[in-house]
Amino acid sequence: MIPGLQIDPSTEERVWRAFTGWAEHFLGQLRRDGIPGLLHDYERHVVSVETKSCTHDGGRSFNRGVAYQECCGDIYEYTKDLAVRDALQIIMDALPHQQASVLAQGIIGLDQRLKAELSDLEDQDEPGLAVPGISSKPWWRYRIPASIRR
Ligand SMILES: [Zn+2]
Repeated sequence: MIPGLQIDPSTEERVWRAFTGWAEHFLGQLRRDGIPGLLHDYERHVVSVETKSCTHDGGRSFNRGVAYQECCGDIYEYTKDLAVRDALQIIMDALPHQQASVLAQGIIGLDQRLKAELSDLEDQDEPGLAVPGISSKPWWRYRIPASIRR
């Protein structure tokens, strides 16, 4: 069972199969927090990009400027955090059309906010990490925000 999804066993099997090769800690999180957890993490990523800052330890650690660029504002961390968007895509691709569009509606606002932060000036191929489970490289893997340290 994946929290936030009402799907039949064969659809669920297709979803899990699509995550072959993903880290066990991610799969455990998906099993525990489901779709709400993914959406929460994606929103946190978008807010971090928008504010050029990051917060950890329940708010006790707040980074901006150089401290941000040495934490979540580093290209390695930035692309790693994008895995949540990859995961949402993998799930949408595995769902029947109707359910996929419901999920898409919950994501589109965050996608628009992230797109608004991506710079046209960046090298097109910079964050070109292969994404297990996604055959063609999605838009969020082509451009990065100007504030990200490369
Ligand atoms: Zn951080």
